[in-house]
Amino acid sequence: MPPQALQRSSKIYSLGKILLQEQNNEFDDSAVLGGLDRFLQRWEADLKPLLGRLPLYSQMLSSQRKRWASEILTRLKLLDKGQGPKTSTPKRKPETKAQPSPGDLTLEDDITRLRGVTSSNITRFHRLGLHKIRDLVYLFPRRHNDFAHICKIADLVPGQEQTIVATVWEASEVTLGRRMRSTQAVLGDETGNMRVVWFNQPYLAKSFHSGDWLVVSGKVSVFKSRKVMESPEYELLKGQEELVHTGRLVPVYPSVEGLPQRTLRRLVNLALKIGVPQLKEFLTAELLHRTGLVSLHNAVSQAHYPDSELDKNAARRRLAFDELFLMQLAVLSRKRAWQKRGEGIPLKAESKLLEAFLGGLPFTLTPAQDKVLKEILADLASEQPMSRLLQGEVGSGKTVVALAALLVAVFNGHQGALMAPTEILAEQHLISVSNLLPGLARPLQGENHLSMYLDSFPRPISVGLLLGSLPRRAKEEMRQRLAAGTVDIIIGTHALIQGEVEIPRLALAVVDEQHRFGVTQRASLREKGGRPHLLAMSATPIPRSLALTLYGDLDISTIDQLPPGRQQIRTRRVTPDQRERAYNFIRREVRAERQAFIICPLIEESETVQARAAVEEHRRLSEEVFPDLRLGLIHGRIPLKEKQATMQAFQERKIDIMVSTAVVEVGIDVPNATVMLIDGADRFGLAQLHQFRGRVGRGPHQSYCLLMADSPSLEVRERLRVLERTNDGFAVAEEDLRFRGPGDYLGTRQSGLPNLRMARLSDQDILTLARREASRLLDSDLSLAREEHRPLAEEMGRYAAGLASEMS
Ligand code: ADP
Ligand code: MG
Repeated sequence: MPPQALQRSSKIYSLGKILLQEQNNEFDDSAVLGGLDRFLQRWEADLKPLLGRLPLYSQMLSSQRKRWASEILTRLKLLDKGQGPKTSTPKRKPETKAQPSPGDLTLEDDITRLRGVTSSNITRFHRLGLHKIRDLVYLFPRRHNDFAHICKIADLVPGQEQTIVATVWEASEVTLGRRMRSTQAVLGDETGNMRVVWFNQPYLAKSFHSGDWLVVSGKVSVFKSRKVMESPEYELLKGQEELVHTGRLVPVYPSVEGLPQRTLRRLVNLALKIGVPQLKEFLTAELLHRTGLVSLHNAVSQAHYPDSELDKNAARRRLAFDELFLMQLAVLSRKRAWQKRGEGIPLKAESKLLEAFLGGLPFTLTPAQDKVLKEILADLASEQPMSRLLQGEVGSGKTVVALAALLVAVFNGHQGALMAPTEILAEQHLISVSNLLPGLARPLQGENHLSMYLDSFPRPISVGLLLGSLPRRAKEEMRQRLAAGTVDIIIGTHALIQGEVEIPRLALAVVDEQHRFGVTQRASLREKGGRPHLLAMSATPIPRSLALTLYGDLDISTIDQLPPGRQQIRTRRVTPDQRERAYNFIRREVRAERQAFIICPLIEESETVQARAAVEEHRRLSEEVFPDLRLGLIHGRIPLKEKQATMQAFQERKIDIMVSTAVVEVGIDVPNATVMLIDGADRFGLAQLHQFRGRVGRGPHQSYCLLMADSPSLEVRERLRVLERTNDGFAVAEEDLRFRGPGDYLGTRQSGLPNLRMARLSDQDILTLARREASRLLDSDLSLAREEHRPLAEEMGRYAAGLASEMS
């Protein structure tokens, strides 16, 4: 309904006046003789299209009345300002084509130009990587809420997964069972009320306030003849607006603290109106026809506000194709260009020196390590620069192989670089390097440089660390040393591929956990020197055929064997009532001089929220559970120096138990740690749990992984059983795909390729299609110079720029 019609509708204004009076009377339902419900009932037909389902005013708490009234009053005021009932009309689809763009904004304009983006929330948008209106158009929903199928409390059927929308009457922290601090809430709608508990999540109590609207989805059970939901999924609805969005699939966007869905949804909707008509189709009509894909306009609109599941799928297929197609174009054209360019830097194996290094190691290489090292050495010796992917299970010993290769570069008078996705991992590599050589001093705390001494090599080998968070001066100094060629091996993060960094004698670039980087970032490191060799490493088990397709420009080596003496990690699921036992188990291990990790439950993607929860959990564990033990804490918000000190203390056994967020997932190497307790295990993907578990079982001692799941459904139990059953990463990955759907697997930044929002690992058919089309295109028009390919060339430019900007 257009705003004018709404304004003309006098009933809602009468209601407004009544509500103002109610406000004056503190919502005692005295404004209408016989109660407001009479008015509502009488005018239901007029009001319902505007307000959605009408409440039973007489049965609302005064806080609920207040909220509802202010909602309506705000809306009326909005109308006065002429802003239109943006979110208030149900079933209205975003009119992406009909409506003229507000002002003359374009896709490339900054989102600050949109009404509603304030200086206070702009940083939050930036945190989501949202800068331009285009970014909002491409901010696809994580999922859709089907608000059409919401249950009333009275209609809930025990034993089934159901969704209700209800008001919080009260929420508080309670202690259930033995010392299990939990949250309990009473929720109500007009049909009744019910109890909801979140075991072990006392912190939730603080996020729910009386009068809040809450959507909860979960299984209903009956306890003492009352209905109750245990640890359901939840989502706070701020205000009533979302509820009016009934009758369709409502997009749910990736969340960031302080950016309510409502705000996101409104702004994305605005961006769609401006942006969709401006999107340029970059696939030729011929290609669209051949592949049966839908148009870009259609796909983008339907991805946000689908008319049906079918439309949603068609949209996803098109958008997934785009991602994979652009990626394949980039990969394949890079490969073709790379093959055409001049010579590389052949590196001699220098077997004597290499043997001195290998002989000095505290262990001998496994046959699998030997084999891949030979493959790498052969590549290094060649004129053609190496492009190799080194795959190997978590803990299979990729680092030492990489270090050997880096040393070969140094022996030949060149420089080597090792890039890791996180600072903690980069630091860890520096420490590992120092551990791998006997008689070598550890890097001093906070220091970003060390020297290694190798028998029969005439001078000390200098190893440097370059991280974004280092003080400006330290970074500057390291850059100068690098440029001067006095650093032999540089270890670092994205900071390595910033514009100012020069590594003039770079002969080998190693990228660890390479799937966490984009293709372009991988290439950028390579651009730092002449024609260096590239070694990309990954522990993410991707089936070989798929890896070949995804990383079409790389050769592949696999370490298919773990170092000897590794214990199979015994993995067990632990129910919440066995929490105490799990803690006792940890205590026993610590008594036996072992160490443990405790991973905090995943609450939100937001680092800040995670950090806060970890601090709280650390406090609880140190005060209430393990007051006699030494606990450490590590999370993403801890300053670098402190993190380093904590890790070092853990390594030196000055800490018994490390409490941590997901940051330990990669690269932490403490062989004496034997227990990994993962709290809220049901919230992590299998591949990620497997990575966590790889932090233990790295020494000679039997190691254990305890998976604590709050209220595991049958499906969760089955999923976790996979980990109990096997230690094989490939098997885990395959099961993960089967259970979770690959979108998650790939989508999470932990385990997949970045830059894929819509494509999934299981999209083999789309991938094959994309690869075929990309190949076909390059055959006919390698530089995308033809007129009909100009929009595509533009899109490729944007794609590359997008990848590049992810470096920061
Ligand atoms: P990943 O492949 O996961 O990166 P790392 O390189 O971190 O694994 O190696 C894991 C641990 O195994 C390290 O402590 C490393 O020193 C050790 N390690 C590597 N190779 C061997 C080997 N051949 N024998 C014994 N221990 C080894
Ligand atoms: Mg590693």
